[in-house]
Amino acid sequence: MNKNDSERIASFLVDFGLKQTTKPEKADVLLINTCSVREHAEQRVFGFIHNWNKFRENKPNLIIGITGCLPGHDKDEKIRKKFEKVDLYFPIIDLPNLPEKLNKINPELFPLEKSKQLSEYWEYEPIRQNNFSASITIQNGCNNFCTYCIVPYSRGREKNRPLKEILEEIKKLDKEKFLQIDLLGQVVNNYQAPDPENFSLNNPYQEKDHFAALLWEVNQIEGVKRIFFTAPDPQYFNDWQIEALTLPKMMNYLHIPVQSGDNKILKKMNRKYTREFFIELIRKIRQVKPEIALGTDIIVGFCGETEEQFQNTLDLYQQCDFDISYHAKYSNRPGTVADKLFVDDISEEIKKERWQKIQKIMEEQTLKKNQFYKDKIVSVLVTECQDGYCQGNSKEMKLTKFLGDKSLLGKIVQVKINNPERWILFGEMV
Ligand code: SAH
Ligand code: SF4
Repeated sequence: MNKNDSERIASFLVDFGLKQTTKPEKADVLLINTCSVREHAEQRVFGFIHNWNKFRENKPNLIIGITGCLPGHDKDEKIRKKFEKVDLYFPIIDLPNLPEKLNKINPELFPLEKSKQLSEYWEYEPIRQNNFSASITIQNGCNNFCTYCIVPYSRGREKNRPLKEILEEIKKLDKEKFLQIDLLGQVVNNYQAPDPENFSLNNPYQEKDHFAALLWEVNQIEGVKRIFFTAPDPQYFNDWQIEALTLPKMMNYLHIPVQSGDNKILKKMNRKYTREFFIELIRKIRQVKPEIALGTDIIVGFCGETEEQFQNTLDLYQQCDFDISYHAKYSNRPGTVADKLFVDDISEEIKKERWQKIQKIMEEQTLKKNQFYKDKIVSVLVTECQDGYCQGNSKEMKLTKFLGDKSLLGKIVQVKINNPERWILFGEMV
């Protein structure tokens, strides 16, 4: 989502006539789009700002700014005060207010008449980095308040984008360049269209579930070849959404964050489902789409997590037979419920140990799961070609590599897998 926001900021600045550069020392404007999910990401921002401030010597008019999640949750600007000079400090949703601010700083570089006066940040059309898939933000913010999470503070309350705008953005895309659509939202499957009258009359899900109905609409759009979404919340996954996973253009991969496999921890995290509910959900999904690949997110070492509770997570991981998972050591975030009410009492050493344990199990399981693809044919969107080899993700989100040349770039090809390794499926085009 942050990457997609950066693509919008780029378009916003290009509208003023600025050009993108890969050399920070040459730039007139340097903006950093920050992530706050874990403390480590925030720490890195200090280093960037420190180095960038040195460029001011040769460029006295340099504008340095911080946007994204950090200014979003730093309402009283306590963190801002720790930075050396920054000229702009705004949460991403304030992008539409930026023209005035920039104009005040440098009216020559930022004449107001050049800027588009839009009311929502997502109305700025992203300058997309072309890797053949287009991220489409359908929602911003979150109302779930999982106790560990800073997102509801940094991005604010959940707001859904009008259906009409979403579909128009997708329809306008150059379909030669963008074969895959990635729908983005913090609780993406809780999408509620503010303009449901824009669903097609023959949409089978419009009265039942707006997210399933949106998937159906995107599936209808000519030129779209693949549809992916992230991140759904298990509590909202209903039978309509499960059925929509079988629409022809849907990826054969679902990323569904579970965070923990222990009921007490889930409750303490304010995740509103149980271990049993989650396992049953996975069973139902596999019933309608037996060969779907599954991924998840897990936090280890949350406040008070016992060894037994961690074991329950390992046990759930194996029961659900995930293909991949992203593990995070719990990081206390200021202002969250966990920060105020619980003690971050699991030592860094134990967090690390648990992280390594689950990582090892995942890596073994990933290799085992990949064996399934031996001698099978997968459908690959080719995103890179170099030295006689091409690679790209299969519909299962497995990185696949095979002999081929640049003419295949941006095409969807069929590849027969003969050597499935842990992180790459090797095969040959058929
Ligand atoms: N909205 C998504 C995920 C948002 S944050 C969801 O509900 O699943 C992305 C991931 O970062 C989460 O899935 C979680 O695993 C991790 N994360 C969030 N807050 C964290 C924290 N305080 N410490 C460690 N990991 C965290
Ligand atoms: Fe954070 Fe929970 Fe919202 Fe995801 S659902 S963004 S983890 S509060």
